[in-house]
Amino acid sequence: MSHPYPALLSPLSLGFTTLKNRVIMGSMHTGLEDRKADYPKLAAYFAERARGGVGLIVTGGIAPNIAGWLGPFAGKLTGRRELARHRLVTDAVHAEGGKIALQILHAGRYGYHPLSVAPSAVEIMGSEGYLINQFLVEHVNRRDDAWGGSFENRSRFALEIVRRVRERVGSEFIIVFRLSVLDLIESGSDWNEVVALAQGLEQAGATVLNCGIGWHEARIPTIATRVPRAAFSFATEALKPAVSIPVVATNRINTPEVANDLIASGAADLVSMARPFLADADFVNKAAADQADRINTCIACNQACLDHIFSRQHATCLVNPRAGRETELNWVPTRTPRRVAVVGAGPAGLAASCVAAERGHQVTLFDASTEIGGQFNIAKQIPGKEEFRETVRYFRNRLDDTGVEQQLGRTVTAAELADGFDHVVIATGIVPRTPKIEGIDHPSVLSYLDVLRDHKPVGQRVAIIGAGGIGFDTAEFLLGEGTGDQPAQTVEAFLSQWGIDRTLERRGGVTEPDPVEVRRKIYLLQRKDTAVGRGLGKTTGWIHRSNLKNHGVKMLAGVQYERIDDQGLHVTIDGEPRLLAVDTVVVCAGQQPNAALAEALSGSLAENRIHRIGGALHAGELDAKRAIQQGTELAAGID
Ligand code: FAD
Ligand code: NAP
Ligand code: SF4
Repeated sequence: MSHPYPALLSPLSLGFTTLKNRVIMGSMHTGLEDRKADYPKLAAYFAERARGGVGLIVTGGIAPNIAGWLGPFAGKLTGRRELARHRLVTDAVHAEGGKIALQILHAGRYGYHPLSVAPSAVEIMGSEGYLINQFLVEHVNRRDDAWGGSFENRSRFALEIVRRVRERVGSEFIIVFRLSVLDLIESGSDWNEVVALAQGLEQAGATVLNCGIGWHEARIPTIATRVPRAAFSFATEALKPAVSIPVVATNRINTPEVANDLIASGAADLVSMARPFLADADFVNKAAADQADRINTCIACNQACLDHIFSRQHATCLVNPRAGRETELNWVPTRTPRRVAVVGAGPAGLAASCVAAERGHQVTLFDASTEIGGQFNIAKQIPGKEEFRETVRYFRNRLDDTGVEQQLGRTVTAAELADGFDHVVIATGIVPRTPKIEGIDHPSVLSYLDVLRDHKPVGQRVAIIGAGGIGFDTAEFLLGEGTGDQPAQTVEAFLSQWGIDRTLERRGGVTEPDPVEVRRKIYLLQRKDTAVGRGLGKTTGWIHRSNLKNHGVKMLAGVQYERIDDQGLHVTIDGEPRLLAVDTVVVCAGQQPNAALAEALSGSLAENRIHRIGGALHAGELDAKRAIQQGTELAAGID
């Protein structure tokens, strides 16, 4: 059979063994590695990805000793007792015909526990740069013995590790070395050092070189959704001719098209994707079956994976809440098919409709809009959030595949629902909050929907009331063309904006960023006196703050709104009255449940037949993660 992605799906011989395709599932800590009791869950999680066709799976980081722990009691493999639990995982993967490599990760100074060590006396902190990489870079390796000083000495640690591991495991064992090809910090390795190390690693016995991008302390986004797809593959492409072992491209590769192009063009021998396999375990099988448009695409939001790990929760996925919960969240065919109405085709209603239909229920999905997607149709207008279109595309196809009857452009009433359905799922989302401020009905005031959805004209000087996720996104939108549906930023523009040296001539791969073009003067305001943007995503909030700051957006906390008039927005800050002389005030002051339909329906159907999910249930701190999870869990249980 001819494959739609011939380069990506072609086998790769490593001499003593062959990978069935060019796809590596990259290392991603899930939190399930840290407790013995969770290993059966970890085994089920990896087995599903092996069944999904991945060529080689790499586990989350496992410490080689206690000093290498990332945090207290993190996963480690130091003796026979732990071997049994790891074998559970490898056996499950092998049973599915997969291959799996254990990632040995010594956190070095990144270890967040009192027993950590590092190449030189450094403070113990929860920040970036793992042990081997720390040895390589002068500013953290202050040793004056054979392991520090010259590049030869600094690289000795990495080379000795590979040489000795090779000695122990023999010639027929895959050793993947994850090499930092772009440190993205000023004092990082220079390109000649990267190449010399890569060549040394090949000689020392590495089988494959995986390319790492960016130290954790780098102030350049490397995996967030605003990073264009495959933005860093130029570094892998530059490294490839310098070695004769396979090299792996990583970071923001999330579709078979992009992955295939990298292999076909000779930029890499393999691609590594981590988060895309949380989003869809069947990524490879779907690509092989020419069903790429059925892939649940990772939108690089980090909200349920990395943000969870950094807040000590297990990783899962915003678009796939089953990820990491394969033994717990399953939907089985129903024995009592029901007629189910779902009102609202936002993320909550879409997830509920698909899962209910997959279980054999007869589902009718209503939406007042002629498009499915709910607020995702607004989110996808924001520069850097273009990936949200993929989720809408995925659900559109899944609705078709599962036979959900769609009644779009239809605002349903309680009377229409009271008859004819066994269950009604209310997923009607939210209504924006209108704050009580004098002059809120002044012509200069717009809601975020006026701006983002309806593209009403906005002046050059703008005050945004509310600095939550939507306030930040509205500012981003107003800094761009303000037209919506823009193409994603090009790789070239991204590299220039963030000061990434494509020529690889500068140490660490960093250079001066391009000067920014400031289109508008924007104030972003909140009443709380905490830092503006504190509530944004743990791993992505800094990117939003830094981008707005670079564009001169004034972020003000502790603001009391007084009134809006022809002069602008009158506020009090620190007891001082102030006039923000703006042309437009945009209200992004949070949301309230759109509960009108649920309330109208109450009493006309038994309470256990009416279900509220997503924003319709609770708007506070609502995000798509919660909406999709609630829709999925509800429908998995409807009988
Ligand atoms: P909604 O998405 O609001 O969908 C409700 C649907 O119900 C709508 O399509 C509406 O037309 C329909 N409806 C309402 N009443 C009726 C009726 N009577 N009859 C028929 N249909 C009806 N979340 C994140 O997690 N990450 C982000 O990065 C993110 N960015 C965002 C950026 C912006 C600009 C916006 C606006 C939102 C963003 N969100 C983000 C929030 C996320 O989109 C919402 O949390 C999510 O869409 C809520 O899902 P829902 O299904 O509950 O409701
Ligand atoms: P939000 O995050 O709750 O922010 C609302 C903002 O409005 C806050 O800054 C709040 O700050 C202010 N506010 C609340 N009541 C007000 C009032 N009566 N008068 C004036 N200001 C008021 O909500 P959102 O920005 O509307 O976002 C909705 C949801 O979408 C969020 O919960 C978020 O999870 C999701 N989202 C996420 C992202 C993301 O990137 N992850 C992006 C967009 C949206 P003060 O009370 O201090 O003034
Ligand atoms: Fe990708 Fe977001 Fe899912 Fe993480 S939570 S895997 S970034 S879609």
